[in-house]
Amino acid sequence: MQHNKMITRAYIAGEWRECDKSFAVINPYTQQQLTEVSDCGPDAAGEALEASVEAFTTWRNTTSFERADLLQGWHDLIVERADQLAETMSLEMGKPVREARGEVTGPAAGFVRWYSEEAKRVYGDVIPSHTAGKRLLAVRQPVGPVFGITPWNFPASMVTRKAAPALAAGCTVVLKPAEQSPLTALLLAKLWEEAGGPAGTLQVLPTSAPAEVARVFLDDPRVRKFSFTGSTAVGTQLYEHAARTVKRVSLELGGHAPFIVLDDADIEGAVQQAIIAKYRNNGQSCVAANRIFVASELAGRFEQAFSAAAAALKTGDPLDEATDIGPLVDAQALAKVSKHVQQALANGARLLTGGKSEGLVFEPTALADVREGHLILQEETFGPVAPIVRFTDLDAAVAQANATPYGLAAYVWTNNLSAAIRLVEELDYGIVGVNDGVPATPQAPFGGVKASGLGKEGGRWGLDEYLETKYASIGLL
Ligand code: NAP
Repeated sequence: MQHNKMITRAYIAGEWRECDKSFAVINPYTQQQLTEVSDCGPDAAGEALEASVEAFTTWRNTTSFERADLLQGWHDLIVERADQLAETMSLEMGKPVREARGEVTGPAAGFVRWYSEEAKRVYGDVIPSHTAGKRLLAVRQPVGPVFGITPWNFPASMVTRKAAPALAAGCTVVLKPAEQSPLTALLLAKLWEEAGGPAGTLQVLPTSAPAEVARVFLDDPRVRKFSFTGSTAVGTQLYEHAARTVKRVSLELGGHAPFIVLDDADIEGAVQQAIIAKYRNNGQSCVAANRIFVASELAGRFEQAFSAAAAALKTGDPLDEATDIGPLVDAQALAKVSKHVQQALANGARLLTGGKSEGLVFEPTALADVREGHLILQEETFGPVAPIVRFTDLDAAVAQANATPYGLAAYVWTNNLSAAIRLVEELDYGIVGVNDGVPATPQAPFGGVKASGLGKEGGRWGLDEYLETKYASIGLL
């Protein structure tokens, strides 16, 4: 694999800018400094805001065919540079490189391709008139300049999931990537520039002062849309702030997914998909299977097969193609995972496999006999730990699955059609995977209910978030 030259400057108004300050990006596997990145403050944010507003005046008037061509070019470059993007991601936040490449060529490129196609299908409506002398139209227009904030756990696909639909709709975008993964976002902006993306249409502001930078955009009424992916605590706070200028808001927040295995389930399939749903991205995924509920009839066999599969996952250097589980993102993440495991073990849970760490690498871990009251059933763990809960009454298990403020993704494992349909309807979640541990895909709506957020990303729903419907009533003279 080629060692890449990292892009470390902010991208503002079509220029690569050094800022007065810089901040360090740490490789979580070596725990050494990888590089330093421009540290944007409110002044740089103000410049980016002006450039975004200015660029919107021309970008909004490009045809959807022009925007589609640019997005297609961006897609092609992302696929062409997949190795470089994957290595960058792996170095800055520790995702195993094989999985990182899958994120790039799968969803990250996929959102760009999907929205390059959808750009051309932003239809309006002709509404039947109540009188012969009027014509009624509903037209779709870009909502305006957009400010986006992304987390570190999917450093490429979280960026394109916002930027591609916004750009397709005719909006300009300023993006603030997570402090732990600015390099992937900057490289994506470089590829947008190489594809011919006009200055000011997509800008990237790395910063160690997220609140100060966000304030510049959230205070300004010219920014018409705020799209956030991250924790519920931060998202809620920024939602309040965005309300002051009545912005459109999308929030993709935390999750606490239940994975429910019914008594008739195919154990082999359920285990194989539960392993992916739990340990993908080292368990640091908003849709990670956080609570595995298994019918008591097959719980013993499930626990045995699941713990054997977890123990077979290879831990180590994320740049090694064979690695399944790399480091957690930082020491805070490791402390939270350890605390959840220790608290459960101290209160009667049984360790099936794992439980130890080396550096920031936490072994894939499975716990049995987990009960209500254990912290791990209440909070998002964000790490490679699977708590398994046995149930005898399905209705009680569903009630327990729903007894959380979160409502992002849920999984159900069964061959019983009626039970599957009933559970899809009864689970208070925005996404339900039935015999499917990886339901997310660019053309489908992704998003949570309750404290997991507002709005959808992906598919035609993701484009709607960046479009305003304007009504015109035309009197005939
Ligand atoms: P986080 O702490 O909320 O950070 C997310 C983003 O918000 C980062 O860019 C962060 O910048 C920024 N931020 C933090 N405080 C801010 C403030 N006061 N003002 C403005 N921006 C601020 O979340 P995280 O720990 O990085 O990410 C993990 C969370 O994201 C989990 O809860 C996960 O479930 C959720 N997530 C949800 C989805 C989804 O689609 N629903 C997808 C992925 C992740 P800094 O990096 O500088 O702190």
